[in-house]
Amino acid sequence: MKMTGGYLPKIAGQPSGTVRAADIPARLVIALHQDGLVFHPAVPDGAKVNAGQIVADREHTGGKLGLPAPAGGTIQFEEDTKGLPVRLVLTVSDHTPPQPGKRFTPGKATPAELRQALAKGGVWQRLWSSANGGIPPLDPATETPACILVNMVMTEPFRADSTSLLQDERKSFLAGLAFLPTMLADAGRLHLATTRPQAAAMEAMISSASLPKPPVIETVPLRYPIEHPQVLSDALRRASGQPSGIIWVLDCQTVVALGACLEDGIPLHSRLLAIGGPGATHPIHIRARIGTPLNSLLNAAETDGSRLALRGGLFQGEPVTETCSVEAHDDALFLLPRTDTREFLGFVTPGFDRRSILPCFASGLTGAADRHVSVSLRGERRPCIACGLCESVCPVGLMPQVLHRYLYSDAIDNVEATGIDRCIGCGLCTYVCPSKIDLTHQFQMARERIHQERAEVAAAEAAQQHREEARQKELALKKNGKR
Ligand code: SF4
Ligand code: SF4
Repeated sequence: MKMTGGYLPKIAGQPSGTVRAADIPARLVIALHQDGLVFHPAVPDGAKVNAGQIVADREHTGGKLGLPAPAGGTIQFEEDTKGLPVRLVLTVSDHTPPQPGKRFTPGKATPAELRQALAKGGVWQRLWSSANGGIPPLDPATETPACILVNMVMTEPFRADSTSLLQDERKSFLAGLAFLPTMLADAGRLHLATTRPQAAAMEAMISSASLPKPPVIETVPLRYPIEHPQVLSDALRRASGQPSGIIWVLDCQTVVALGACLEDGIPLHSRLLAIGGPGATHPIHIRARIGTPLNSLLNAAETDGSRLALRGGLFQGEPVTETCSVEAHDDALFLLPRTDTREFLGFVTPGFDRRSILPCFASGLTGAADRHVSVSLRGERRPCIACGLCESVCPVGLMPQVLHRYLYSDAIDNVEATGIDRCIGCGLCTYVCPSKIDLTHQFQMARERIHQERAEVAAAEAAQQHREEARQKELALKKNGKR
């Protein structure tokens, strides 16, 4: 499969492939607002719960999504200023993983049974559907995919890689692959995206498992942001010549969780995280229970407080705060050194261990990774120099420099017409821009403004229609002589 645009920076601090298990802390914190979803407590304040028991849930089309307890213990609500619960604090008294629950056999369960089991096991919200750009509905009658694409490639520096994951989780991964065809439409296809160098090993692993319906192996370029579901599904449509049809995308960790949930009846209760970046003293992969405070994981990676920790990778990560704990989507902590001063003209200073998309660094000869990535902007902000780098890397074919100019002159209609809705917020244009213009942030603000304006227009139109209907009703009543 091919992708347009994209870029893979070479950054220092790649985590080692060895996986360490994090200690289970005395208190696990389960956020009720996660992944853009709001969950509600399903147990009372002070309840004693077992590992795997659903402690929070929320309605979703066709059923309910659950959050299972990652360990056994006592639940306490943490509330916001309005008295609404925002976190569940689990004081751990039982460290053992959840006990096996209901088990399924591939090909012997209905799609509806599998979907409901995954929703209860906290796995369903990890799936992505091209129909709505989010979580697929639980009811198979509402949506059944023509293709399911399993992605094994993570390019954002540095997210947990599939090789490290499969060291211990191969059995659950293959079980997950065996269950997925049941959820496809008739004649639907299962695909697996990997890189060309990994394809042979992946094929050998899959053929050794004798799956009844093995996935079609697709190779993808090693360029960020190939792992974005929108980019992957567009690439699959182009490669398969299937312009329509719903595609579901899920990553390797989700397939492992799906296999464990369906084959062994064990709900999602832990995540593999990569802790790396130029600010990490000992970059590692670590397996942690959901709810583990992120700051305690940073201590496990022996980092010091002078680093900025991002939850997620280099491009899309958000700063870690005191209250952050491992959630079902986490797979990376990226550490950036803090620097007090900006480096004057740092963006053009040649260096043997500094890389850029621009061909002005000696690292092009040495192949060294960039050790100088930091929270600094590497020089003062400058105006757009029309270099075109942002356009060359944009994976969805936008012209960020043109959008930037429209926004500068507040031509929001032109911005909308140029297709800003297609922006996936990957952050690559900002990263490569030699003028250090925060294009991604500008576009996010513009999208929010456009959506708000659209909502206001829709509300005004609905009110106008309501008034018109009331007027027509009034006229009809008068005509009939009832008024
Ligand atoms: S943030 Fe948006 S405009 Fe920038 S490269 Fe990514 S998709 Fe393109
Ligand atoms: S990368 Fe930056 S300087 Fe170059 S064209 Fe885009 S906005 Fe302008």
